[in-house]
Amino acid sequence: MIVQPKVRGFICTTAHPVGCGENVKEQIDYVKARPKTPGAKNVLVIGSSTGYGLASRISAAFSCGASTIGVMFERPQSGKRTATPGWYNTAAFEEYAHADGLYAKTINGDAFSQEVKQQVIDLIKKDLGQVDMVVYSLASPRRTMADGTTCSSVLKTTDGEYTNKTIDLAARTVSEVTVPPATQEEIRDTVKVMGGEDWKDWITALSGAGVLAEHTVTMAYSYLGPELTHPMYRNGSIGRAKEHLFATSKEITQEFPGVTAYISVNKGLVTQASAAIPIVPLYMSILYKVMKEKGIHEGCIEQMYRLFHDKLLADKPQVDEDGMIRMDDWEMREDVQQEVKQAWDRINSDNLQQLADVDGYWEDFYHMFGFGIDGVDYDADVEVDKAVPSI
Ligand code: NAD
Repeated sequence: MIVQPKVRGFICTTAHPVGCGENVKEQIDYVKARPKTPGAKNVLVIGSSTGYGLASRISAAFSCGASTIGVMFERPQSGKRTATPGWYNTAAFEEYAHADGLYAKTINGDAFSQEVKQQVIDLIKKDLGQVDMVVYSLASPRRTMADGTTCSSVLKTTDGEYTNKTIDLAARTVSEVTVPPATQEEIRDTVKVMGGEDWKDWITALSGAGVLAEHTVTMAYSYLGPELTHPMYRNGSIGRAKEHLFATSKEITQEFPGVTAYISVNKGLVTQASAAIPIVPLYMSILYKVMKEKGIHEGCIEQMYRLFHDKLLADKPQVDEDGMIRMDDWEMREDVQQEVKQAWDRINSDNLQQLADVDGYWEDFYHMFGFGIDGVDYDADVEVDKAVPSI
C-alpha cells in the first residue's frame, strides 16, 4: 500500500510503517552514540509506544542495557487502515532490541484494567522474576473503571472562563479562544483518568505479587509550564490531575518499603496528547523557536536520555526542593521565558511566521506518524501489516 498522511484536526489517521521505524532508529542511534547509564536492569514501561514513554523505553534498553516490558493501547493494521504509529514504533523497537540481544516484550491492552496488570505480573514472573524500575507514562482521554463505567478527561479551566490567543495550525492563523470551566464532575473524572490512582494500583498489584526488586524506582511524568499557560494547564483540570499524581508519588514512597517514586516534570513537546490542548500549541511553537535559536531545543529522546543519565540514575537523583526532577529546567530558564513572553504579547496572524516555529511544530507532528522523514520513499508500496514480534 502507498501510505500518505490524512490529517483530521489534531490527529493523522494514517501512519507510515517505514517512517515510524526510522523514527525509532534515529532515537536509538541518538542514545547509542552517548555514554551508557548503568542502574536499571529490568524495566516496565506503562505507555511505552509513543512520546515520552517510548523514549524512556529506548533509554532504558539502549543506554542501561535493560530488559524491557512495555504496555500500550494500540491498533494493528486492519482492512484498509494502517496500524497506529505506536504499533509500528513498537514493532521496530522490539526488532532493534532483539538484534542487540536485549529482552523486549509488549502487552497490548488497557493498562487501567486488572487483566492487563495480571498479564504483566505473569510475564515478569515467567521471564524476569522482578523489575527494578516502573515508568508510568500513560496519556489517555478516558478510563474504563472496574464497574464498567467510563471517566473522560477534559482540558478545561477550573476557575471560570479563560480567553487568550490560540493557533489554528492548519490555517496558520492566530485567533482568540475562550476555554470554559470544567464542572466538579469533569474535574473529578479528569483526576481519575490522569491522576495517580491507577499508578498506585499498579504499584500495589506489582508489590503484592512480589515482582518488585528490593530497591525499585518508579516515575511518572508531569508538566508545569509558565504562567501564561497556567489557567489552561497547571490550574486547569489536567493540572488537578497532575497535583494528584504528585501527591501519589509521596504516598507510594511512604507506603511501599523499598520503592521510591518520582515525578519528572518534562518539557512541553508535540505529542499526540499535547496537540489537543487549547492555547498550549501556540506557546509551544514560540518556545520551539526560542529554544532552537539558543541551541537548547530537545525532543522526547533528548529529554529522556538526559533524565536517565544526568538526573535519575546519577550518583544521587537530582531533585528540586519539592522532590521533583526538573526536565523543564531549560524551558523555564528566565531568558527563554522572557523571550517567549515578549513574542506572545506581540504575536498575531501577520507575524506568526517570524515569531513562532510553526514549520517545526508541523515537522514534529508529521514525524509522530512516520511522515516527512529523510530517506523514506513515500511513493513506494509498503507492507502495512507489520507484526510486533512478541504479540
Ligand atoms: P503519548 O500520547 O505520546 O503516549 C501515551 C502512551 O500511553 C502510548 O504509549 C499509549 O499507547 C498509551 N496508552 C494510552 N491509553 C492507554 C491505555 N488505556 N492502556 C495502555 N496504554 C495506554 O503521550 P505523552 O505526551 O508521551 O505523555 C506521557 C506522559 O507525559 C503524560 O503523563 C503526559 O501528561 C506527560 N507529559 C507530556 C508532555 C508533553 O508536552 N507532551 C510534557 C510533560 C509531561
